[in-house]
Amino acid sequence: MKIGILALQGAFIEHKHALDRLGIESFEIRQRRDIAKPFDGLIIPGGESTVIGRLLRKLDLFEPLKAKIESGMPVFGTCAGLILLAKNIEGEAAHLGVMDITVRRNAYGRQYDSFSISADVAKVSEKPVPLVFIRAPWIESVGKDVDVLLELDGHIVAARQNNMLVTAFHPELTDNTAFLEYFINMVKKTKTDRN
Ligand code: GLN
Repeated sequence: MKIGILALQGAFIEHKHALDRLGIESFEIRQRRDIAKPFDGLIIPGGESTVIGRLLRKLDLFEPLKAKIESGMPVFGTCAGLILLAKNIEGEAAHLGVMDITVRRNAYGRQYDSFSISADVAKVSEKPVPLVFIRAPWIESVGKDVDVLLELDGHIVAARQNNMLVTAFHPELTDNTAFLEYFINMVKKTKTDRN
């Protein structure tokens, strides 16, 4: 199994380290030729969604990655990655627009710019999962095919739709690999189903 990590801007190296800890092979996607060879799953990290969105287009990665996701490649978007995958972003145009969610950027406002808490996420882990939020979005609403994995104070912060997994927080900035393992299982399942 090989995971491609979009490495245009933001917190991509932390995903690499987390995958290393699980013994999963990964590589960084910086330009079009990086995706010429086959891989099994994609991670879109946190950072600044506007910047990553612009670079995706400029580097000619936008269409091929969108096509891969639409044809079923498992993708895990954290924070800005969630925003990039959303079909609707309040007040602005969508980027990849593949997941049936409506997001609000910087939803927690200045007062709660960054915070950490821990929560039970029954579908992902038996133990509470530590969550790190940094200028995080939340999901305002989801379409009928979206499975909500976690709500905090009435706001959706983790969800899945088929091959797409998103979190408003940053699992890769903690030692806890529960969400990453959940994603790796999605990738394994897709691989077996296709073979
Ligand atoms: N605030 C950023 C955005 O809107 C996301 C922050 C993050 O990825 N930690 O793109």
